[in-house]
Amino acid sequence: MRVGIGYDSHRLAEGRRLVIGGIVIPFEKGLLGHSDADVLCHAIMDAVIGAVGLGDIGRLFPDTDPRWKDAVSTELLRYVVDLARMNGYAIAWIDATIIAERPKLGPFRPAMAAGLAGALGVEPSAVSVKAKTNEGVDAAGRGEAIAVHAVALLERVRR
Ligand SMILES: [Zn+2]
Repeated sequence: MRVGIGYDSHRLAEGRRLVIGGIVIPFEKGLLGHSDADVLCHAIMDAVIGAVGLGDIGRLFPDTDPRWKDAVSTELLRYVVDLARMNGYAIAWIDATIIAERPKLGPFRPAMAAGLAGALGVEPSAVSVKAKTNEGVDAAGRGEAIAVHAVALLERVRR
C-alpha cells in the first residue's frame, strides 16, 4: 500500500464557471486558473501523484504548456490514474475535504463522488467527498477561495 496527500486551492472570481469534482455548480463566481480550475480533481491528482512518487503536479502539467489550457480536469485525473497504473498501483480509496464558505456543497457530494469514481476507475463507495466551511477564517472563510485536502490510498497491482 502507498498513501499520498494532496492539496489545492483556487481564487474565486467573477465570470468563471464553478467546476468542482467534474460537476458544474450554480454560483455567481467560479474558480480562477489554468484549465477548468477544478480544485477537487487537482487535490486528488496531487494525492495520487504523491502516492506513486512522481513529484509535483506542476511538473506533470506545467501551466506554460498549451496542451493543458482549458483542459477538463476529470480527463487529467484519468491520465494520472493511468500513470499510477503504469507504475503498478491502483486506487483503493480516496478521501477529500472541500473547504468553501459558499456555496453549500452538501447536495452535490453524491454527484461529485460518482463522477470522480468514473474518472478514477473505482466504485463510488471507494470515494469520500466531504465539505465544510472555514468558519469565516482566512481566504476560504472570507469567500475569496476554495481549498481541498485529499488523501489517496493506492495498492500494488501486478503489471
Ligand atoms: Zn488547481
